[in-house]
Amino acid sequence: MFGLMQDWPLTVNRIIDHAARWDGARPVVSRRLEVSADGALSVADYASLRARARRVTAALRGLGVGLGDRVATLAWNSDRHLEAWFAIMGMGAVCHTLNPRLFKDQLRFIINHAADRVILADPVFAGLVAELLPDCPTVTHVVLLCGEMDVDRAVLPNAIAYEDWIAAHADDGRPWGDFDERQAAALCYTSGTTGNPKGVLYSHRSTMIHMWMTLQPDVMGLSVSDVALPIVPMYHANAWGIPLSTAAVGCKLVLPGSRLDPASLLDLIHGQGVTFAAAVPTIWQAIIQHLERHGGDFGPLRRVIIGGAACPEAVLRRLHDYGVEARHAWGMTETSPIGTHFKLVPELAGTGFEEQMPYRIRQGRPPLGIDLALRGQGGSFLPHDGQQMGRLQVRGPVVAGSYLHGDGGQVLDVDGWFDTGDIADIDGYGFMRIADRAKDVIKSGGEWISSLEIENIASSHPKAALCAAIAISDPKWDERPLLVVQLKPDTDATAAEFLAHFQGRLSKWQIPDDVMFVPAMPLGATGKIDKKVLRAMLATAL
Ligand code: ADP
Repeated sequence: MFGLMQDWPLTVNRIIDHAARWDGARPVVSRRLEVSADGALSVADYASLRARARRVTAALRGLGVGLGDRVATLAWNSDRHLEAWFAIMGMGAVCHTLNPRLFKDQLRFIINHAADRVILADPVFAGLVAELLPDCPTVTHVVLLCGEMDVDRAVLPNAIAYEDWIAAHADDGRPWGDFDERQAAALCYTSGTTGNPKGVLYSHRSTMIHMWMTLQPDVMGLSVSDVALPIVPMYHANAWGIPLSTAAVGCKLVLPGSRLDPASLLDLIHGQGVTFAAAVPTIWQAIIQHLERHGGDFGPLRRVIIGGAACPEAVLRRLHDYGVEARHAWGMTETSPIGTHFKLVPELAGTGFEEQMPYRIRQGRPPLGIDLALRGQGGSFLPHDGQQMGRLQVRGPVVAGSYLHGDGGQVLDVDGWFDTGDIADIDGYGFMRIADRAKDVIKSGGEWISSLEIENIASSHPKAALCAAIAISDPKWDERPLLVVQLKPDTDATAAEFLAHFQGRLSKWQIPDDVMFVPAMPLGATGKIDKKVLRAMLATAL
């Protein structure tokens, strides 16, 4: 017997339809990116954003875009980018967010693999698009997210100027979301451990379920009175879904454009009254170091989410000192991306920050919608005792079931588990801890050493700006850890100083053999420390 409730397909346009109708006047503030605006703030609201998105849909249809077609964006976080998201998804096309920091060959591969038809790009990426286009035959049109005056026709003679384009199109009256909720809504590529990037294809249904997951008080806990700043780029796993979650609750949204330096971010936080923000650890480390050097504080900011890479304990502590509650989260493109999140369970609620730290530093517990398991060698499931480490498995309605075009073959096991490629344990309260990515684990004398644990301790050294531990081969032990450190500006340190910092904090055999100082840590396309590049750098240096 089926239920008798209304059949209301869970399509992403519902979010902006609701926001425009019930919270239409709530501001969406963006740092403008075109040359003529020079970083000035533009203020839109959900009602105007929806009205413009409707015209973008009509304009895309005018270019021949239809259901299931891939439309790429190559853009920083801005109101125009968000309009494009709703326009593309609302009409049933697939919004493919391209990461401008990828190598050109990777971008070419991804655009062709996805068979993107149109690219909507920030004008600052016109040169990049011009270089890619000759090798991307499926792309028929490029739209630059600006007005005609900011289009450099010497670079892209046939580009469409977004503002003029939508000015020439009225809402065509055709409904959004008149398709099955299992239609694809968005496409993100993951780097994968080997070979080419693989496409993770989110459906409207999975995107809506993920949005509701994020809204749980123990996850992002957004409220209509928050002011949210997704620093994490919209091309990094859809900015962890935050622009959709904020529209869903109807709170003020602040989009930072390309200016992700500490001074610009603090300016937005103070100027716009930001209460909630999210970014990878390296961003928070940079802001904290900026405040330590120049003074100041986080003003109205109260809650932040830190994920995408392991957050050092020192960062959680410093944010706490500044009156900001930092919640550690883990996820991956394949999990939409929220997988686990710090939750203050009642057993810990009565304790102080220090007692909570061993749990806060873990990657957290899964919300409803995600299930986790650990598989040991030989494939058996491991107990959640906080001791035994295994390969982290994940399943649920927001987890990838396969990759675009079947790349990578069958990715689920017989029980429907997806292997994350992360090595983890889970403790008695259900808090998961990532020890390493399987490919980064350091195997010394047959035992695993967690590079994340080394990095966490090294990061608490007062002179450390960024730290990474990597394996170097060793004739006796197979592999030994090497610590790589980028020091804070204007500081000097010796290897011995850093090695002494591990005494009493790690077993002797887990302590790195040596420390190497680098002027700048290589950061990957999503702002995380890039160990692949680091290994290559060191191979030349050693
Ligand atoms: P990429 O491979 O491009 O980094 P993702 O952004 O999907 O792609 O990265 C997912 C991976 O990032 C996870 O599998 C995990 O290894 C790592 N990761 C994400 N969040 C955390 C975290 N809080 N702590 C440790 N590792 C994390």
